[in-house]
Amino acid sequence: MAKLRKGDTVQVIRGKDVGKTGTITHVISETGRVTVEGINVAKKHRKPRSQEDPGGIMDRDMPLDASNVMLVCKKCDRPVRVGFKMKDGEKIRVCSNCGKEL
Ligand SMILES: [Zn+2]
Repeated sequence: MAKLRKGDTVQVIRGKDVGKTGTITHVISETGRVTVEGINVAKKHRKPRSQEDPGGIMDRDMPLDASNVMLVCKKCDRPVRVGFKMKDGEKIRVCSNCGKEL
């Protein structure tokens, strides 16, 4: 999955969080999934383990399919399709709308 990287700003285009934007915290290339900060949050109930660890409810970002998010171009200020071009022998990502390097 060359399109998305950790630290990218993406917008959700499908599912319960549609329209929300966030930053990618993990890319799971084996399954083509990503986790995005504050997106697809599941409440996890944790049992108390000790006095220092009282457990409780924690928010956890669950992975979602990479096809459910689109990269946000900062110049266009909206989700865009990613294009590629070669530069100095390297494949780089560009905004298919304005051509800016992403
Ligand atoms: Zn753009």
